[in-house]
Amino acid sequence: MASRFRTRFAPSPTGPLHLGHAYSAMLAQDMARAAGGEFLLRIEDIDQSRARREWESLIYEDLHWLGLRWPDPVMRQSERMPDYAAALDRLWAAGLLYPCRCTRRDIAQALSAPQEGVVAHGPDGPVYPGTCRPGPDWMPAGPRPDGVLRLDLARALDRIGGDGIGYVETGPERERLCAFHAIAHLLRNVGDIVLSRTGMGTSYHLSVTVDDAAQRISHVVRGADLAEATFIHRILQDLLGLPAPVYHHHRLIRDGTGKRLAKRDDARAIRLYRAEGRSPAEIRRMVSLPPAP
Ligand code: GLU
Repeated sequence: MASRFRTRFAPSPTGPLHLGHAYSAMLAQDMARAAGGEFLLRIEDIDQSRARREWESLIYEDLHWLGLRWPDPVMRQSERMPDYAAALDRLWAAGLLYPCRCTRRDIAQALSAPQEGVVAHGPDGPVYPGTCRPGPDWMPAGPRPDGVLRLDLARALDRIGGDGIGYVETGPERERLCAFHAIAHLLRNVGDIVLSRTGMGTSYHLSVTVDDAAQRISHVVRGADLAEATFIHRILQDLLGLPAPVYHHHRLIRDGTGKRLAKRDDARAIRLYRAEGRSPAEIRRMVSLPPAP
């Protein structure tokens, strides 16, 4: 049975939305409209040290001004901690997580050892050298501890079975983006990623996976910079028994020098275009989207 097209825009309220966000949100809504589906909004505010209510209010204002509409209530990740804890408990009980006490410095030092050779960089930075990873016979004895928890990727892939992890990509770069990675590639280039951070009780990867399933997202529309993170999300979906959406990784909006826009690129903030008296139609032209359908 064909599932209904449901997509989402999932900004973090840690700064103003810029042209890149506007493109992502408008493209997702256009695709939902064209498919007779739905467009949802999710506020990704798990990092309470950086998220601000003022930025969240500005996100609603900017998106509304751009012509976007979404059903209420909006999902806010800060209200979903029990769901993330339940997912972590399951992974912990299955022996797939382990506590990690390494500082950034410890990791950098371990990776600078001569036998490490060239250090691979994964979706979250340098691939973890495995210092705190327990031996093959280890199984968790008590309840899940607080603090940093990493996924034991080798165990996880073994549990899933098969020779690698793949996903369905419909984006414009599907020829270039590799939508399948073999086990050896994942172990070398992704490694034991952090699923629960100190003081946060979750992580981007865990929350996004749990929430895409909770919102019954059929199509994830987001920037090509997140294509490699998709493998982590696919692994977590398989481990937690969650459905796998189709992924559409779109091109990135770049500045005049070819650099991709970041939150600090205030010059391209939507609120400034609004203040200058620009129109949503002009914003669509700036990011090469056809006129609103
Ligand atoms: N919150 C993420 C961001 O602002 C988006 C994550 C996603 O779309 O999966 O970059």
